[in-house]
Amino acid sequence: MLKIALPNKGRLADDVRELFADAGLEIRVRSERALTAAIGDEFQALFVRSQDIPEFVADGAAHAGITGWDLVRESGRTLDDLLDLEFGKCRLVVAAREEGVADLRHLPSGARVASCFPNLARDFFAERDIAVDVVPMSGAAEVAPHLGIAELIVDLTSTGSTLKTNGLRELATILTSTARLVAKPDRAGEERRKLDELTMALASVLRARGKRYVMANAPRAALEQVREVLPGLSGPTVTEVLDGGRFVAVHAVVAASSVFRTISALKAIGCEGILVTRIERLVP
Ligand code: AMP
Repeated sequence: MLKIALPNKGRLADDVRELFADAGLEIRVRSERALTAAIGDEFQALFVRSQDIPEFVADGAAHAGITGWDLVRESGRTLDDLLDLEFGKCRLVVAAREEGVADLRHLPSGARVASCFPNLARDFFAERDIAVDVVPMSGAAEVAPHLGIAELIVDLTSTGSTLKTNGLRELATILTSTARLVAKPDRAGEERRKLDELTMALASVLRARGKRYVMANAPRAALEQVREVLPGLSGPTVTEVLDGGRFVAVHAVVAASSVFRTISALKAIGCEGILVTRIERLVP
């Protein structure tokens, strides 16, 4: 069994569970507080804090893990980024009080930076030759400027609303992050094969999420126009309809974002019986 380190709680936990379930890999938890769980027959989940996952994987306690890219970078450990899971999207930013510093080039000397990401914060300012004191925090960095602990913070934001609510203004983006499937670079043999399979299974779900399967009955005479409206993965699938030859059934995978336009275009060229369905997995 390969061990996969997964977030035990927090904002990534539910999305991870849903992704595995969609890939046909139900995470079977025996109790709320369980530290491990079976994932299908080949994998075992180890539930740990998101922050600890890079270390777990780098030290070999788990074969792979899922956590935020911000945490992987902060850990300083070298891990392979096997798959971008597209959720947990956020940015690590430098922010200051709205009435405070407005430009990083004009910081008071010895400015203090409060952050739960002390390593990334230190690197960011060092690369720009800006002398600061980094104050490591374990949470709620956004209160530091108001308590007089620091002039700046380095913190995560997704919509920017928490920063605004706390009277803070963004001055720079250090990195953008999403949840990733990560593993140690030196994978081989059976371990490598199983992790490749897992990566492919999860990727197929992510690929399918942005797509829809469109089916319609199209007038045979309009097939050329159908081809323009429904490009599909390699052109639409066309099958006979037993109606004496006037219509054919056309099927294609289209981007979810273009379904609305596709349906209007199919109607305009005389298509009927248009069906749109979700796709569970898409393996090209
Ligand atoms: P948490 O659940 O607070 O332990 O956060 C785990 C991870 O969720 C973070 O390290 C980020 O990768 C990600 N994340 C996504 N959006 C946000 C956000 N707005 N604030 C904090 N973390 C976020």
